[in-house]
Amino acid sequence: MLPVFGHSNPDTDAITSALVYARFLTRQGTPARAYRLGDLNFETPFVLAQAGVDAPELLALLPTGTAVALVDHNESGQSLPNLTDLTVTHVVDHHKLGNLNTSQPPYLRFEPVGCTGTILLKLHREANLTVDPVDANLMLSAILSDTLHFRSPTTTQDDRDAVEFLAPIAGVEDVTAYALAMFAAKSDLGDTPADQLLKMDYKAFPFGDQRWGLGVIETTNPAYVFGRQAELLAAMTAAKTQDGLDGVLLSVVDILNETNRMLVPGDAEAAVVQGAFGADTQDNVADLEGRISRKKQIVPALEKYFGA
Ligand code: MN
Ligand code: MN
Repeated sequence: MLPVFGHSNPDTDAITSALVYARFLTRQGTPARAYRLGDLNFETPFVLAQAGVDAPELLALLPTGTAVALVDHNESGQSLPNLTDLTVTHVVDHHKLGNLNTSQPPYLRFEPVGCTGTILLKLHREANLTVDPVDANLMLSAILSDTLHFRSPTTTQDDRDAVEFLAPIAGVEDVTAYALAMFAAKSDLGDTPADQLLKMDYKAFPFGDQRWGLGVIETTNPAYVFGRQAELLAAMTAAKTQDGLDGVLLSVVDILNETNRMLVPGDAEAAVVQGAFGADTQDNVADLEGRISRKKQIVPALEKYFGA
């Protein structure tokens, strides 16, 4: 059974795409099984309950040489710790190509669309495979999640078309209401410890000879997050030391108003935020305005700044 998994600190797309692609591969004659590399965020259990499926099993390590399929990521820093010792046979992704290296010719499908789910729907249609209501629900949910219901600048016409195609199959009559319910579930953070909030949607990126941790909290209730600012800043400083990083930033994205107010723990980060985005930091907060996409607006600006 070919293990299929999305990135660590999984978001909805990382989980649902593993489930959908594992089933797709199996139907196409390659028996495959979905896994996850970490705990679910608060949105994904809502999505899985809607679709009526269980979360995939947690995967910690695989023996050297094991064949694996990656979805929704390709960089080793966001994958299993020993990814470079594994044999990557398939990648379906919508992120920039990182340090992916393979020993065998792999199947690769990358597209600059808003969600891996959008690509997976294309694979089904290209293969003349029917889409059942469960898979439709999973892909639809991932697209709404990744594009913030088409608010994110990563959104493409293909994502909109995919949602239009999938909604009737999934039995979702009111897509707007469904997206709002997903975002409400995602924003219901309760008394989650600050270090978990930081790491819920968090990725480490190499920029030149530096390594930075970039977290995102997408929420309909930013006031709640800023109410826990001191704890979050402390968690960021701790993560920086613990993970040997050069900087840590946390974007607090207001989903409904499409703004990003970024938590900036120290002077080193503040200087980089000024240099990369021209944004001042006051009381550990920098206003990044409409830059709500880590993939399209945050990471590229930092790469340019560091000359990576
Ligand atoms: Mn993802
Ligand atoms: Mn994605």
